[in-house]
Amino acid sequence: MAKKTIKDLDVQGKTVLVRVDFNVPFQDGKITDDNRIVQALQTIKYLIDQDSKVVLFSHLGKIKAEEDKAKNDLKPVAERLSELLGKEVKFSPETRGEELEAMVNGLEAGDVMLVQNTRYEDLDGKKESGNDPELGKYWASLGEVFVNDAFGTAHRAHASNVGIASNLESGVGFLIEKELKYLGEAVDNPERPFVAILGGAKVSDKINVITNLLDKADKIIIGGGMAYTFLKAQGKEVGTSLMEEDRIPVAKEIMEKAGDKLVLPVDVVIADDFSPEANAEVVSIDEIPADWQGLDSGPESVKLYDEILKDAKTVVWNGPMGVFEFEKFAQGTIGVCESIAHLEGANTIVGGGDSAAAVAQLGYEEKFTHISTGGGASLQYLEGKPLPGIEAIADK
Ligand code: AMP
Repeated sequence: MAKKTIKDLDVQGKTVLVRVDFNVPFQDGKITDDNRIVQALQTIKYLIDQDSKVVLFSHLGKIKAEEDKAKNDLKPVAERLSELLGKEVKFSPETRGEELEAMVNGLEAGDVMLVQNTRYEDLDGKKESGNDPELGKYWASLGEVFVNDAFGTAHRAHASNVGIASNLESGVGFLIEKELKYLGEAVDNPERPFVAILGGAKVSDKINVITNLLDKADKIIIGGGMAYTFLKAQGKEVGTSLMEEDRIPVAKEIMEKAGDKLVLPVDVVIADDFSPEANAEVVSIDEIPADWQGLDSGPESVKLYDEILKDAKTVVWNGPMGVFEFEKFAQGTIGVCESIAHLEGANTIVGGGDSAAAVAQLGYEEKFTHISTGGGASLQYLEGKPLPGIEAIADK
């Protein structure tokens, strides 16, 4: 059933709690990619325009020990948000207590504040990540309405999403609405042909996605380290390539069921070591030497993928086609990215994580219909599984 959205809620002048995903990358204390903050602006600005008092919650990194706190302090994010909004964003250094409560109570219409990293609550018994009922109830008591706009966290049941939603009137924000629209249309009502491209390291991570998409997609291209388990299942020599022996039976099963729907590489770039300086050679998939490993799709494979993608009307891409972090083994990923970027009139979706990073690195962000802000959440969606953070929101 469709979930309530921010537009279904009466937020006028109210204290609105908003779960956003500000889990942004940092280097030397500086934010290196503020996309997730930018993606949350629409919801925040809408609430400001509605004279709401906006209280934002987010996690940042993981907090396993006291010393993790300093490097995962959300204060710099409040500062960046303040620059993006062009107005003051108050910051509560505490996740609970009198100081936080006084700050919330002191908010005026249109004010925005950010609460310290919700995972600070994990130090004392995983209260946030374990969805401690008392914590969800306490945070919910700070506001009148709850909006969940953290798509990147939607596959987790935490106190700051599921916990708060269980105690307050709730709806999803504009970002989650957008993510569900694009992913939902692609998976459940795709314009055809629908081509899925799955890469990345492990078959085990994506088995459920492949199985779910087998019934929905017209072609599934398998690249990256995942491909070698399938090639091994066909009886080929894969050398020292990444391979999951225990997944060979399921790879065989999938290939039998899929027939020519499943597309594997026809050539690969092999290396004599897992290193950016390794010697590299292009070979057909029947010629991988026993002591070399495949680290990228070869040029013939890239051509084959391009041929398949040429007519696609819907494309979902998740996972790089090779070790794109090493320049010598990035061509497969670059090739697929370019093939998709140049499609006219197709619905093209990148499922977050490494492939989204590759798109950004290559400067093709504008060429895609949608780049998901949630790697894990979009994968779980592609598996056809419910997302607890969204399930917890009230139905329309
Ligand atoms: P994932 O998180 O499953 O999407 O995997 C992404 C990672 O898979 C990237 O860091 C890639 O370097 C890695 N990867 C892709 N292809 C290969 C390969 N052929 N061998 C080893 N690692 C790979």
